[in-house]
Amino acid sequence: MRTPPTPPLAGGTAGPDALRPLVDIVLGALGDGAAARGGPLPAGGPDAVAARVRDLLRDPLPAHGHPHESTLRDLVRTLAEGSADPADPLCAAHLHTPPLALAVAADLAAAALNPSMDSWDQAPAASEIEHGVTRALAAEVYPARPAPDALVTTGGTESNQLALLLARERAPGAPLRVVCGPDTHHSVHRAAWLLGLPAPVTAPLDDPAALHRVLASTLGPALVVATAGTTDTGRIDPLSAVADVTAHHGAGLHVDAAYGGPLLFSDTRRRLLDGLDRADSVTLDLHKLGWQPVAAGLLAVPSADRAAPLAHTAEYLNAADDTDAGLPDLLGRSLRTTRRPDILKIAVTLRALGRAGLGDLVDRVCATAQDLADLVDKHPRLDLYERPTLSTVLFRPAGATDERTADIRRALLTEGRAVLGRARADGRVWLKATVLNPHTTAERLDTLIALVEGSTP
Ligand SMILES: *Cc1c(COP(=O)(O)O)cnc(C)c1O
Repeated sequence: MRTPPTPPLAGGTAGPDALRPLVDIVLGALGDGAAARGGPLPAGGPDAVAARVRDLLRDPLPAHGHPHESTLRDLVRTLAEGSADPADPLCAAHLHTPPLALAVAADLAAAALNPSMDSWDQAPAASEIEHGVTRALAAEVYPARPAPDALVTTGGTESNQLALLLARERAPGAPLRVVCGPDTHHSVHRAAWLLGLPAPVTAPLDDPAALHRVLASTLGPALVVATAGTTDTGRIDPLSAVADVTAHHGAGLHVDAAYGGPLLFSDTRRRLLDGLDRADSVTLDLHKLGWQPVAAGLLAVPSADRAAPLAHTAEYLNAADDTDAGLPDLLGRSLRTTRRPDILKIAVTLRALGRAGLGDLVDRVCATAQDLADLVDKHPRLDLYERPTLSTVLFRPAGATDERTADIRRALLTEGRAVLGRARADGRVWLKATVLNPHTTAERLDTLIALVEGSTP
């Protein structure tokens, strides 16, 4: 039997020449797949997509391989054809960002070189890029602190977990009580469960007197979790007022700014986050309002020593004599071991766009959400939930039942015409449009309204 040739590698001086034709194939397949889809997501619902994928992947692990180029082309094309593409303005259900081409190109380099962020000898330059960029981002959150820091995470979920873990370690002995708002992200509840903490207590964080009462009746150490941009409505808790009450009771404060954090880049909207710098930790998620491909999460802390509970030694990664000899100790910057250099795409984006460029993107999507809210507001047969704080607009057909509202969303999904989300607010089901696409035009908003209207009997 003939031995197959050893496939080329992505790195080294020969890597680029091996990659170039393959990247060309990928780019062609992305374009073909998007054209075949012809809309924000594939028509026909789960059965149609599953049939196409199964047809191609009848034998996912064949005894002998298939030609590399056509395998790559066919699978990427099928993925693109069967994707919900957030680059289409009518794909606006979730905090599912359309990534910048620049960030995706940078991520290709991260994949090709494959630095791993658990030891310096696997990531010499990548670890230094992470050092500089995380400190710069932390300084945006904590401008008055001498040495703030930020840990890179896989997203808001991991950041919130780390925040609760660090708070638990600051209060050893007694169980930490988590106090959060009614719209706090579900990952906070799961983190409390995972860490063996009592179930979080809910308090209305927009009512300082009520928060005061809850904290007054809470025994032992407490951590208040406020949200800057809830997932369902984009509302921001009154951070300064929450920080006042929290400080009065000697409780900790974590702010989940997974969605709203990048308002810091906007000159006109930064004030919405006043009080953020009083938090013991802040979750940021640049794969939302940051236009990064997944993953791009951070947990900012006011001083680097706050992350000390994560310190950990493994002989092969950070032996004491290696650290003493000057090799940076990276293991204590995450609970993960092998870790992608997700910082590279972030570093390229921050430096290329600058604060002004990012702030402009943030302002643009927030302004588009206001335009959409205007259209809904003046429409005789649609109800608007409230004026948007960030870039989320909740609306529903006037007089429709919850079932009918949910049906409209599913009909648009199944027809492949629009991807809208759903949210429960004031006890009712609403359609949710999360505007994250800075290229969305007034014309596309009109189309969105017309599609909802056309699905309404
Ligand atoms: C998206 C989101 C999270 C979770 O972030 P992931 O990146 O999905 O893990 C947490 N909190 C809020 C407010 C969010 O919007």
